[in-house]
Amino acid sequence: MRAAVLHAPGPPEAFKIEDIPVPAIHGNQVLVQVAACGVSSKDVVERNGTYRRDMSFPIVIGMEIAGTVVACGPDVVDLSIGERVCTKAFSSCGQCRHCRNGHETTCARRAPVRGGYGEFAAIAADACVRIPAELSFEVACTLGPGAGVALNAVRDTAGVKLGEIVLISGASGGVGLPALQLAKAAGARTIAVTRGDAKTAGLLEDGADEVIVAPAGHNFAKQVRALTDGEGVDVVIDTVGSSVFHACFDALAMHGRYALVGQLTGEEVSINLARIFFKRAHLLGVGSVSRAQLEDAVALAARGVLRPRLARTLPLDEIAAAHRSVESGSLSGRIIVKPGRLTEKGGT
Ligand SMILES: [Zn+2]
Repeated sequence: MRAAVLHAPGPPEAFKIEDIPVPAIHGNQVLVQVAACGVSSKDVVERNGTYRRDMSFPIVIGMEIAGTVVACGPDVVDLSIGERVCTKAFSSCGQCRHCRNGHETTCARRAPVRGGYGEFAAIAADACVRIPAELSFEVACTLGPGAGVALNAVRDTAGVKLGEIVLISGASGGVGLPALQLAKAAGARTIAVTRGDAKTAGLLEDGADEVIVAPAGHNFAKQVRALTDGEGVDVVIDTVGSSVFHACFDALAMHGRYALVGQLTGEEVSINLARIFFKRAHLLGVGSVSRAQLEDAVALAARGVLRPRLARTLPLDEIAAAHRSVESGSLSGRIIVKPGRLTEKGGT
């Protein structure tokens, strides 16, 4: 099969398109014929050597996979050949204390999903979720790391309720946009914060009641207070991190919930801890996506409640260009590669 193989960490050009054997499946794995694979910032750090966990070379990376099951290992019980699936980023064991307490994303035996940059990938059945016929592979492959995490943040961690005011930072991003769509669907009033004026019209279309355009480093809390009778917002869904933390915290109402779901840069923030208890604030960490959350995100996408934005779909041969685009952050929307033969048409 064709695959983009990485023999060592390096620049985008480090990928080599090669013919390699179709991976063997074991136990509870399924063999998926990959129809589409999202290119994520996690792929970028795996490729350039920043992320080294569970990496051994040569390797075929790519974890945002959608495709068709073409073979099942002997222990697979709930998937069959011919079913269309998409993946979450990790498989969990289903047996350990975390898994049994509903915390599968912190499973001690969790294993990464990889192989989406090849025509076929061997994937633990636990990491695969069925997708309905009306959902394209291109949309489905983006759901786990984007919409699924947003669902975790908005519904299950922050617990957004009807009538609340929700601020979303990085609102046009891969998690920000589905978070905005979900908060709106949950009946909240939504305030979207973005860095670029060009994104405003799209955000209003996608469910923002108000859009604040804030250049990097600008504290937009006063604008938020002006929009909320001085009260601030009930919930912050922060997909950006350090650079907007103070603005978001200042914009949070008394008893507000602050859900942290992204940290785009590494810098630290300092805060007088008294401000947290004076405000009775809840600081909430959001981690990854569970199988149930991904199943729900798939159902919401099939109903049109979640509407992922796709920027470009490229053949596998252009994987280096795909990585350069993701690294530069120049496109709004997701970049997808299709590992199938170039003659293949369509996404389904
Ligand atoms: Zn486990």
